[in-house]
Amino acid sequence: MPAMPLADPAGLRAAVDELRRGRRFLIVTHARPDGDALGSELGLARLLESQGKTVDMVVDGGAPPDLAFLPGAARIGGTPAHARPPYDAVLVVDASGLDRTEGMQAAVPKGARIVNIDHHASNSRFGAVNWVEGESASTGEMIYALAKEAGWPLDRDSAVCLYVAVVTDTGRFMFPSTRPSTHLLAADLLAHGVEPGTIHRAIWGQKTLPELRIHAEAIRAVKTAAGGKIAWTRLTPEMFEQAGIVITEGQDFVAMVKSIKGVEVAMLLRAVEGAVKLSVRTEATCDAVALCARFGGGGHKRAAGATLKMTMEEAEKAAVEAAQAELGP
Ligand code: 5GP
Ligand code: MN
Repeated sequence: MPAMPLADPAGLRAAVDELRRGRRFLIVTHARPDGDALGSELGLARLLESQGKTVDMVVDGGAPPDLAFLPGAARIGGTPAHARPPYDAVLVVDASGLDRTEGMQAAVPKGARIVNIDHHASNSRFGAVNWVEGESASTGEMIYALAKEAGWPLDRDSAVCLYVAVVTDTGRFMFPSTRPSTHLLAADLLAHGVEPGTIHRAIWGQKTLPELRIHAEAIRAVKTAAGGKIAWTRLTPEMFEQAGIVITEGQDFVAMVKSIKGVEVAMLLRAVEGAVKLSVRTEATCDAVALCARFGGGGHKRAAGATLKMTMEEAEKAAVEAAQAELGP
């Protein structure tokens, strides 16, 4: 089976060395983890434990409810106090910088040996060991490659975790970052007992009626600029109040905006505590990282985000101006 093309094979070997050698690990990921972050954390933990190693995991507030179905999610500690050092290394997955772990930085012991495993091209290489694959569609794919390199067998639970990582970060195998090796590893994960229908239902088939109604509101609120090449919508506190729920995850919404014919830059502005979270999805005509970097954010060329410390009105104006500036002719 053709393996994932590697940009940094030396990084992979260094990471495997580190994991082979150590006995006790802490794994952390970016704050408000998505499927790739949590699936990679849990999948890697399971692989290490299958080798007789001890692993702690922390995520600010614990595993988010929408990913609580992942095997092992209940074991994740919700505060830095769940860390029980000493550790041979701290493994940071799916985070372009250590600052992206936000509150969980406090769980990392001073002077800890950090192993940085990530697929953001903009990664700041903050580890003692850095394995960065900027062309990889997901960190989950990297964990799979790591298991192969180390010769550590997968089981059903680790396969489920890695499948969730891959299926979410490839937009269900639809993003251009999806490669032949992505489908081949998905096939292998299915061979280990992953049921795609069950996972798709768990991730995308659990919407409540108030959630669906917020989708309707968000569609109603779509605006466009640049002759329809830029489209955006917003999720405001008023919309949350009306629906009686708060939306904490914007991926579905921005994908909806991106699905409009002719759209090259899709944006979601979502009210969060005291700020606005911007999510951007683009075609090749606009670099989403450059757009979000204007606001101190980052991500991938076609999918990036930032937090704007502004009112919704200010954020909307600034984001649309930035999109107009970054959109090619
Ligand atoms: P989303 O729009 O789904 O929140 O994020 C899309 C991508 O952008 C993800 O790869 C995520 O890691 C990255 N991203 C989102 N928000 C931020 C941010 O505030 N800062 C940085 N550096 N990256 C972000
Ligand atoms: Mn990711």
